[in-house]
Order: sequence, then C-alpha cells, then structure tokens
Amino acid sequence: MFHVSVEDTFSSGHALRGYRGKCENVHGHNYRVRVTVEGPQLDSIGLLVDFTLLKQVMREIIGRLDHQFINDLEPFRAVNPSAENLAKYFYDEMQRGLKDLPPGARITDAIIWETDTSQAKYSPAK
Ligand SMILES: [Zn+2]
Repeated sequence: MFHVSVEDTFSSGHALRGYRGKCENVHGHNYRVRVTVEGPQLDSIGLLVDFTLLKQVMREIIGRLDHQFINDLEPFRAVNPSAENLAKYFYDEMQRGLKDLPPGARITDAIIWETDTSQAKYSPAK
C-alpha cells in the first residue's frame, strides 16, 4: 500500500464541558492536523492522490475553525471539542470533501495535536 499525508496548523479557542480542571476554562491551542490516505495503486504519473487536492480540502475545513471559539461552531455546540472529537471531525469532513479518490483508496485516519506532546487519532473501526 502507498500512504500519503498532509499536515497543516490552525489556532482556535475551546473549553471542555464537564471536565474538572484547567481545560474547563476557555483557552487556546495551536493545533496541528494530519490526514493520511492509503491506496494500492498509483496513477499514470505516479501519484496516489494529489497533495494539492488534499491540502485544498483540509484548508477549507481549517477555514471554519481557525481563530474561532470552537464551542460556538457546529457540531461542537453539542459535541465536546476534545482533540478526539476534532480528529473525527477532520476525518468525516475530509471524507465528505474527497469524493473522487481512486479505486481502492481510502482515508485511513486523522490526527490532531493539541500540543507538541499530546495527540489524538481517529480511524474508523475495521
Ligand atoms: Zn484544550
């Protein structure tokens, strides 16, 4: 299998509902996100999927979150904006934005870093 990943960063505020501790209060993170696609075959010029396309879709999603208070945005008015739920959000929204992946290719996972040393990954159950 071939695997390709794109990464980007954004800065947003959030507050974890129901959490006892500092993260219950409004605070911000410089988030990093990475999404990976895998597939068995390359196209005629040797690409699995164009990085430019992946980055374009990722930038669109980031555009909704960057410099915003995530708790005020759907679906995070109801869904707690944890790193885990943000990872699933990126997975789902990338899935929605990448309709024409080549045969056999799929998004394997999305990873969100809240800090350099803390990350959460979402991948669908097999
Ligand atoms: Zn936080």
